[in-house]
Amino acid sequence: KKVADRYLKREVLGEGTYGVVFKAIDTKTGQTVAIKKIRLGKQKEGVNFTALREIKLLKELKDENIIELIDTFPHKGNLHLVFEFMETDLEAVIRDRNIVLSPADIKSYIQMTLKGLSFCHRKWILHRDMKPNNLLIGSRGQLKLADFGLARIFGSPDRRFTHQVFARWYRAPELLFGAKQYGPGVDVWAAACIFAELLLRRPFLQGNSDIDQLGKIFAAFGTPKPSQWQDMVYLPDYVEYQYVPGQSLRTLFPMASDDALDLLSKMFTYDPKSRISAQHALEHRYFSSIPPPTEPALLPRPP
Ligand code: ADP
Repeated sequence: KKVADRYLKREVLGEGTYGVVFKAIDTKTGQTVAIKKIRLGKQKEGVNFTALREIKLLKELKDENIIELIDTFPHKGNLHLVFEFMETDLEAVIRDRNIVLSPADIKSYIQMTLKGLSFCHRKWILHRDMKPNNLLIGSRGQLKLADFGLARIFGSPDRRFTHQVFARWYRAPELLFGAKQYGPGVDVWAAACIFAELLLRRPFLQGNSDIDQLGKIFAAFGTPKPSQWQDMVYLPDYVEYQYVPGQSLRTLFPMASDDALDLLSKMFTYDPKSRISAQHALEHRYFSSIPPPTEPALLPRPP
C-alpha cells in the first residue's frame, strides 16, 4: 500500500514515543526509510501549525551524525516523518554479550555522539531525550542521533508513556531539580551517562524515581555543595539533601584510561554553567591520545 503516492509500506518496526514506526521503500529513490507516524489527535490546530513550522527547521539539520529527516507529510490526520533507515542502535550493541567493545571502539562511539550533539548545539537545538536507543547505527557503522528536537516540538514524552521512564537515568541534575530554563548541558550530561554505560556495559545511574535518581547521582559524585553550584538552591524543586561523600571516578570505572576519566569528570560537572560543552569535549586530549577511535565501518555490531 502506498502512502502519499511515494512510500511503499513494509513491516512495523516498533511502537515509539510518539506513535508507530514502520519500514517503507521510497519509490522516488529506491531507498529504504523509516516512517514515524505521529498522532496529533488531541492537539489544537495552532499547535500543529507551530509543530509543522519547527519540523521544517529540522529538515535543514544535515550532518553526518544526525538522522536525516527526508520528508514530512500529513496523512489521515497523522503527521508522518520520513527518516533514513538505520540497521540497529547503541542499546543493542551495549546489551549484546557477544560483543567486545575495545577502548578504541568506545572512543569512536562517544566521538560520533558528541559530533552530532555539537552540530545541533551550534544551531541552538537541544535533543533533550538522549539515551542509547536514540543513537542509531547505520549499515556502515556510522552512529547518528535520532529524534533531535522532537521533545521540544511534541512535548517531553517522559510523563505520558511508561516505557519512557528509562530516560530518567540520563537526566541531568538541574532537570531533576525542576529547572525550567536549561541549556545544551542536559544533553552533555546524558552523553556522559552513555559514555559511562559503554564502559560498564550496563546503565550507570539507575534511579527508580526522580528523587532516587538524584540519590544515585549524589551517591556516585557526592552531594553538590552550594559553593560548587551556586544556582542550585534557586531551582524550583531544590531541597537540601543530607551530605554524602562521592566516590572517586577511578573506583567507579576501574578499567578506564586517565584521559577518559578526566573527560568524564568534566561532562559530569554539577553546575551546568561549568559543565564542558560538546564542542570542547571533542577537543579534549582523550580523542587525540592513543588508541585512535575505531573507523565506523570496523566497529563491532550485532548480527
Ligand atoms: P522511542 O520513542 O521508544 O525511542 P522510536 O519512536 O524512536 O522509539 O522508535 C520505535 C521503534 O522504531 C524502535 O524499535 C526503533 O528501533 C525503530 N526505529 C526508529 N527510527 C528508526 C530508523 N530511522 N531506522 C530503523 N528503525 C527505526
